[in-house]
Amino acid sequence: MRFDVAIVGGGTAGGILALELARHGVKTLVVEKGPELREAEAYKRYRIFWGGVEIWAVEALGGTSLVSSGNAMPVLLQELRSFGLNITQEVGELVTALRVQPLPENFRGRGTKLFIEACENLGFKVQLSSKLIDPKLCKNCRRCTRGCPNNAKWTSLKALEEAVSLGAKILTEVEGVEIIVKDNQARGIFFKHQGVAHEVHAEKVVLSAGAIGTPLLLRPLGIREAGRKLFTDIFIDVGAPLLGVSLANEVSMQAYVKLPKIMLSPHYTVFLQPYFSSKGVKLPPEDVMSVMVKIADTSRGEVISEQAVYKPVTKADQRLLQKGVNIAIDILEEIGADTSKVAITFPRGAHPGGTAPLGEIVDKNLETEISQLYVADASVLPKAPGAPPMLTVMAIAKHLAKQLVLRG
Ligand SMILES: Cc1cc2nc3c(=O)[nH]c(=O)nc-3n(C[C@H](O)[C@H](O)[C@H](O)COP(=O)(O)OP(=O)(O)OC[C@H]3O[C@@H](n4cnc5c(N)ncnc54)[C@H](O)[C@@H]3O)c2cc1C
Repeated sequence: MRFDVAIVGGGTAGGILALELARHGVKTLVVEKGPELREAEAYKRYRIFWGGVEIWAVEALGGTSLVSSGNAMPVLLQELRSFGLNITQEVGELVTALRVQPLPENFRGRGTKLFIEACENLGFKVQLSSKLIDPKLCKNCRRCTRGCPNNAKWTSLKALEEAVSLGAKILTEVEGVEIIVKDNQARGIFFKHQGVAHEVHAEKVVLSAGAIGTPLLLRPLGIREAGRKLFTDIFIDVGAPLLGVSLANEVSMQAYVKLPKIMLSPHYTVFLQPYFSSKGVKLPPEDVMSVMVKIADTSRGEVISEQAVYKPVTKADQRLLQKGVNIAIDILEEIGADTSKVAITFPRGAHPGGTAPLGEIVDKNLETEISQLYVADASVLPKAPGAPPMLTVMAIAKHLAKQLVLRG
């Protein structure tokens, strides 16, 4: 088998890349470790890594885009530009093509409205979250992070389906991917599919296996630094009782406050319940008001192996989290929730990145020290954004695809 480009990982970035390349007639192969599922079944393929912070991702065709909350905001554009990577145009193109915008007002329930009002009363600038969600199809079922059952949310699966219709080839449930390198140039990939070994020749190889998967493919090639500097935008939820607020029944994170390195947004999670129970407080989800505190954490983690990730909450992270918790409690108090019964969840992370950073593992063309071997996914982000990175990751992938087409 011969291809112009082989992409390893059919997730968020991999899907955008495959579509953009297929649109330009580039013979493209995508190999994905996970299976192909219906979007609504995405939750079955959550992969949780624990290394101090719980890091969540999805291993399936479509990748972690399948479970996103649909938030789409440009992040780190300035930082990327300082390394010579300008993706402003691609961000604009994606925003237009995917109709990225806040959900209409009728989607905002009492919880979101109270959050907005309280933040404004406290003097914070509140912004509405732009979403990759079609309001005509969204049924407000709040299942975004399980997998949308209504085809309302953009996922990479949609891009991959279109890529296939334009001639791209996709193989799922592949195992043991290795990059074939000769004379310091990528020549293709090796993998097993349905028990059969394949060696595929490709002019260019792009790694889009995500922040955990990509460094594990780079290290056997001698790129030993890959996998260090892992961040994940650590977040916790701070909740308090508020009778009948029903935040649990709204699309989450419809508004947010962005402070330096801290983001606050209305967000209900079932993980609050054990913390209420441990305080002897029994609450139905409808009576919980909660605020997510997300921080731009330090890049002190490391991908160790397929099974092991190290991601401590550093002292600096703790200070930021505590600052965020104090603000969240102020907001809850302003809303009128019972802050004598506050519950706070354990630290989680849903934005792993930084494991093949720009300026260190890849250059401004997203190429590694091995010629014709590129990386396009959250690994290349140079630091934690402390805010949803998906739009930026998608724009990076689109940018690389355009460059590969130009270079032929
Ligand atoms: C619950 C949740 C909600 C989120 N909500 C938002 C949001 O609202 N907005 C936002 O901006 N971000 C959100 N994020 C984060 C966002 O989804 C990720 O930052 C983004 O999807 C990362 O894209 P990626 O291409 O780097 O990785 P992924 O999309 O994870 O893709 C990597 C793919 O590579 C595959 N793979 C891995 N290793 C191999 C291998 N060796 N061989 C072949 N394939 C491999 C994986 O199975 C996966 O399909 C959320 C994350 C979670 C967990």
